[in-house]
Amino acid sequence: MSINSQHEQTFSHIFIAGIADKRFDITIKNGVFSSIVESSIASPLQPSDSGRDLWIAPGVIDLHTHLAWTDFDHDDQLKRDSQEIEGLQAQAFEATLRTGVTSVRDAGGLAPATVEHIRQHYGQPLSVHTCGDMLGAGDARGPEFLQQRVQEIVASGATWIKILATGGLGSPSEAVLNPVFTEEEFAAIVRAAHDLGVKVLVHAWGGAALDWSIKYGVASIEHGMFMTEDQAYRLAQSATAFVPTVSIYRIAADPSSVLALNPVLCERAARAAEAHPKAVSYARKAGVRIGFGTDYATPMLHGTNLDEWEALIDCGLTRAEAWHAATAAAADILGYGDSLGRIAEGFIADAIIFDGDPYQAENAKALQESIVSVIKGGVEK
Ligand SMILES: [Zn+2]
Repeated sequence: MSINSQHEQTFSHIFIAGIADKRFDITIKNGVFSSIVESSIASPLQPSDSGRDLWIAPGVIDLHTHLAWTDFDHDDQLKRDSQEIEGLQAQAFEATLRTGVTSVRDAGGLAPATVEHIRQHYGQPLSVHTCGDMLGAGDARGPEFLQQRVQEIVASGATWIKILATGGLGSPSEAVLNPVFTEEEFAAIVRAAHDLGVKVLVHAWGGAALDWSIKYGVASIEHGMFMTEDQAYRLAQSATAFVPTVSIYRIAADPSSVLALNPVLCERAARAAEAHPKAVSYARKAGVRIGFGTDYATPMLHGTNLDEWEALIDCGLTRAEAWHAATAAAADILGYGDSLGRIAEGFIADAIIFDGDPYQAENAKALQESIVSVIKGGVEK
């Protein structure tokens, strides 16, 4: 079903996920929740919608996806023609929205102009925040050069700057925590971004790059599986968010997964996956703001984003905490905590309708299967 966003839409006797034993009448108008009132007690048993109970939850916010990439190995993308790449990218937008993700922060590789093109030519309404080109080893050419790069990236329309501050699966294990930039370079990137009013996200598995992220005030650390307990406390104190992206390393570690990586990469991913629960528990205990992010980057993975919800719970988050990480906390990390990520009056009507309580779902598969529809800016998809 699809309705004109200028029209009103009302859900009667619906449950709000996370609020037990109360039903609500919710009206959406002009893309926002215009009225949310508890249903009259005269009919508490009346189901939400023609005989079945429904639950509404805020749309999920994926803080770390890669919608532009179509292949694990970038060389494989270069073999595809541009029309095919564009079609796959539009499919990635579509699959992401269909699974209940209504906003994403693309963590690198997606040009702001491409987002606009896909919105216009493919009618994809997913909200996408971009960081455009990532700053990595090839850019470690001094503070002045980096300042220039930041200015170029922001001029391309990016609203975030992404620093690849340590190695990843491609680096030998003993070198993976070595910083890619000098501290001076790192500081110059963050300063240049902040001068332009743009926030910074940092790919860091741990080590000195994580300390610098805290010291220079970046918005979020990505992956962070080798963070120490002491670093977790300092992250909490500095209000730096942590986006662990747990599930992708579990997938990468499995040689029979859709990524089908070689044994060396699988082995490195396995070490990372093993470390993640400890890092998440340090962060949780210290009170670090934890955000939901998948790091999904291939057509087979887009649309399975809710697997991260299950992985976060596996790492010790409660269901309520995992939902918070995927909604209100993620909106806050994006900088939209006062308008997005909650079922609340005046908030943007990005939501998921379920026919089972999403806080009770057995696993990601059950959660996925209980989705009735996804509402984006007040329009049901
Ligand atoms: Zn990534």
